[in-house]
Amino acid sequence: MTAAEIGALVVGAGPYGLATAAHLRGLGVETRLVGTPMEFWERRMPRGMCLKSEPFASSIGAPEPGLAFPDFAPGVGVGDPVPLDAFVAYGRWFAGRAAPVAEETRVERIEPAGDGYRAALATGEAVRAAAVVVAVGVGPFAHVPAELAGLAPDLLTHSADHGDLTGFAGRDVAVVGAGQSALETAVLLAELGARPTVVARRPELDWNRVPVEAGGRGPTAPLHGLGRGWRTWVYSERPAATRLLPYRTRRRIVATTLGPAGSWWLRDRFDERVRVLAGRRVAGADEVGGRAVLRLDGPDGTERLAADHVIAATGFVPDLDRLPLLDADLRARLARWDGSPRLDRDFQSSAPGLFFTGLAAAASFGPVLRFVHGTDFAARRTARGVARRVAGRPGGGAADTGTAGRLAGAGR
Ligand SMILES: Cc1cc2nc3c(=O)[nH]c(=O)nc-3n(C[C@H](O)[C@H](O)[C@H](O)COP(=O)(O)OP(=O)(O)OC[C@H]3O[C@@H](n4cnc5c(N)ncnc54)[C@H](O)[C@@H]3O)c2cc1C
Repeated sequence: MTAAEIGALVVGAGPYGLATAAHLRGLGVETRLVGTPMEFWERRMPRGMCLKSEPFASSIGAPEPGLAFPDFAPGVGVGDPVPLDAFVAYGRWFAGRAAPVAEETRVERIEPAGDGYRAALATGEAVRAAAVVVAVGVGPFAHVPAELAGLAPDLLTHSADHGDLTGFAGRDVAVVGAGQSALETAVLLAELGARPTVVARRPELDWNRVPVEAGGRGPTAPLHGLGRGWRTWVYSERPAATRLLPYRTRRRIVATTLGPAGSWWLRDRFDERVRVLAGRRVAGADEVGGRAVLRLDGPDGTERLAADHVIAATGFVPDLDRLPLLDADLRARLARWDGSPRLDRDFQSSAPGLFFTGLAAAASFGPVLRFVHGTDFAARRTARGVARRVAGRPGGGAADTGTAGRLAGAGR
């Protein structure tokens, strides 16, 4: 028997999937949300971590007031680091109040079916939907440089492979990278009794300044979701305008806005405990006697660093070809900006009814899509696009009868 078509299927229940599903529910679109709420944050970020974003910039976009992070944790202000477990609890609190009940399974496959899509769930169920929102986050796009690829998995992992670092106590760990993830992973390793060495290409590590509201001294440009400054204000608060820039400009902005730097509150814990090899580029890696040996090109030529394990804190590169979830023909047909889908103003790809949000949308809308702060804009727009797509079809809900008024907030 063929299942009846629903309006929308949202794949992934991280901040972007939750925000989108909440907005779709607000518009009355029949929606199924598949994924365990905040799974990536709980399982693939290290215990003991804090968010780099300020509390006000760690809010998941909601269709109604009262669901921002400061509503969940009143009294937490600018300069107060948000602990990982508080953010996971916030995401689940948000899910319970604003989103349809999440189905804690996975979508294994999405393929075109008639005028819509068919999705296969890990439960064996097939779901037909007029629209699909791919909100799978950063996990599928974990990037490991080719120079490290020769190491076996017991010697090399990505920073996103670890919810728990305790197994590294007493071991030498090389952490490759210079961003918050690298620096915080190294601190947590040291605090657990491991001996971390950070290997960074840049000649010196960069640290963010203490925000003014937290007692720091700084410029008077506005504080916003991506930090401080007028130019980044545009990227943070007006992603629709960023989308209109030439792609090459946008690509540069995505790559350089909020470049690798540590949080100010991490620095004291770092300086005393972590060895740093800055100005070194990893030229290659070998296994020698059960250990990893990195070949590093640096100011004094090539040197070698031996470690029991290497953690590549080398970020995430969106690439549609890393989403086997999507039917291969469908993937091949999608218009792209490099590896990312090319999206219209409502986050719809070149395949009608197939939407992407989160990191995969950064090539279209700019750097704020890499952060939780982008959920508000993204969810409003995506829900508007989905509602238009499903209007007049089964599961279209309020979208069947004209939603102009309710969609008004999506124009920003
Ligand atoms: C170490 C680290 C620290 C960060 N700190 C910050 C920060 O402080 N502030 C900030 O704004 N951003 C931060 N980020 C960026 C952060 O990842 C994004 O802002 C945010 O997680 C994006 O939300 P998302 O919903 O797109 O992705 P995710 O949170 O990754 O959620 C996607 C979800 O989809 C699920 N999923 C994937 N595939 C399927 C499938 N086939 N079926 C069902 N479910 C699926 C995953 O399990 C996951 O739970 C950080 C990232 C990392 C790696």
